Amino acid sequence: MSEIQQFDLIVIGGGPAGYPCAIRAAQLGMQALCIDAWVNRDGSPSFGGTCLNAGCIPSKALLESSELYHRAQHEFEVHGISAGKIGLDLAKMQARKQAVSKANSGGVKLLFSANKVTGLHGHGRLLGDGKIGYKSLDGKDEKIFAAKHIVIATGSAPVELKKIAPFDGQHIVDSWGALDFTAVPERLGVIGAGVIGVELGSVWSRLGADTVLLEALTEFLPMVDRQVTKEALRQFTKQGLDIRLGAKVVAARTGKKGVEVEYEQGGSKQSESFDKLIVAVGRRPYTDALGCEAAGVALDPRGFVKVDSDYLTNVPGIYAIGDVVATGPMLAHKGIEEGVVLAERLAGEKSKVDYRAVPSVIYTSPEIAWVGLSEEQAVAAGHEVKTGSSPFAANGRARAMEATAGLIKFISDAKTDRVLGVHMIGPYVSELAAEAVLAMGYGATTADIQLTMHAHPTLSETFHEASLAVDGHAIHSVNKKKKPA
Ligand code: FAD
Ligand code: NAD
Repeated sequence: MSEIQQFDLIVIGGGPAGYPCAIRAAQLGMQALCIDAWVNRDGSPSFGGTCLNAGCIPSKALLESSELYHRAQHEFEVHGISAGKIGLDLAKMQARKQAVSKANSGGVKLLFSANKVTGLHGHGRLLGDGKIGYKSLDGKDEKIFAAKHIVIATGSAPVELKKIAPFDGQHIVDSWGALDFTAVPERLGVIGAGVIGVELGSVWSRLGADTVLLEALTEFLPMVDRQVTKEALRQFTKQGLDIRLGAKVVAARTGKKGVEVEYEQGGSKQSESFDKLIVAVGRRPYTDALGCEAAGVALDPRGFVKVDSDYLTNVPGIYAIGDVVATGPMLAHKGIEEGVVLAERLAGEKSKVDYRAVPSVIYTSPEIAWVGLSEEQAVAAGHEVKTGSSPFAANGRARAMEATAGLIKFISDAKTDRVLGVHMIGPYVSELAAEAVLAMGYGATTADIQLTMHAHPTLSETFHEASLAVDGHAIHSVNKKKKPA
């Protein structure tokens, strides 16, 4: 083994938490190394982690393609367009998805090179004493590196229901497997109607799969405001997604033809057969073979790396960010912010992540997005709440787009007028969420937003209208009188 190479900062994991941390550290003058073990199914190593290779980006590529396919079939006619018979070339759609992912992960390589970050494909292991063991992906090259700051950004992996529905890569698959189907399943089952369940369920349902989502909870998307989820359930059901709430899967058996799934609902046992079954019941922090125990890095009972508000673990000099820590939701942009903020704090700056204004988006059609508290959460947290909502049906642009389903709802503090949350469902609300992030980031009151001007005709007018509705003076939608909660 050659001599130990010294860096200022080593990041283990090159996903959306890890690679921005290495880049920002290098921008601030540190010598940074990022080690990443991701290997794609075709054997190619790739930076970008779950997000660029098997998560955010490929799922959004398929959501876009499948939505276009669906709209061409069902919406063109309304616009007076006849396009003949619409065909599906799934192989081409999948190839485009791969190309989109590859272009993004190739971008990370370019950014490393432009910012003078050393990027290595391979496995990193904590050796203690500020040292990292590195093994190349083919196992032929082994090195030891040392650094003043070591950052764990090893992300997360899908939860497997080992006893109930173990992955076989063929009939029972995780979200990565579900992104790579080579044929549209005739009947598709999904365990879990959470974020992945509804996004990937939508993709395959739009492409023609008869799709059933089995969700153990009796409440649909409990983290989102009830007014929004009520509308979401109505819209998704109208689109043909069969969402069964209170349906707890207890067994899945694979046979030649597919999977037989048993579930309990309302006290009785039911069963269904599917060609494919996606298990989307959450993700777990990933620290396998990382050497946490040897290095003395403490994990919490759920396996997350324990950190303080500076992302420092119990071991001096070792930090953790992204999906592998329990702070905040498992989202790419949360990881990016943590990576950047950590690098800046290590360089002596006073940056902080604002966890009150983390946007969440579900990329269905219509999209769902939220920032801050739902009405239910705000009431439970002891706020005296005032709310207002405005439907996209009252928005001229949405009408012109033939996209009037959905609404935006403001949840504000009745005493201070501060915006506590904005929850929405409708066209491009993923983009409108940025307006709520800015407002809440700057501590805006509802009146602050009411006094801003929004271009006409834009979808953002519904955001403005919803803020006006909080105090009963919406102009373009009917104000509903509501008592404060
Ligand atoms: P990861 O992206 O998981 O990256 C960790 C990296 O570390 C991986 O490359 C892994 O190989 C590597 N690694 C692990 N151990 C080692 C080791 N010992 N040595 C070297 N390398 C190692 N989030 C959103 O915000 N928006 C979305 O639209 C969205 N869509 C998603 C869709 C799907 C289907 C899935 C599964 C997830 C989605 N997410 C989305 C979540 C998002 O992908 C994660 O929150 C994000 O990738 C977490 O970033 P991370 O850097 O913490 O971890
Ligand atoms: P999730 O927590 O959103 O949903 C999992 C669902 O599975 C829950 O509703 C749970 O009640 C249900 N469930 C668990 N066991 C069950 C059983 N035996 N039978 C029936 N239902 C059962 O998790 P996910 O959908 O796997 O997504 C994981 C994470 O990935 C998300 O929390 C999110 O952080 C991230 N993600 C984000 C995006 C996005 O930002 N658009 C997209 C995909 C994934």
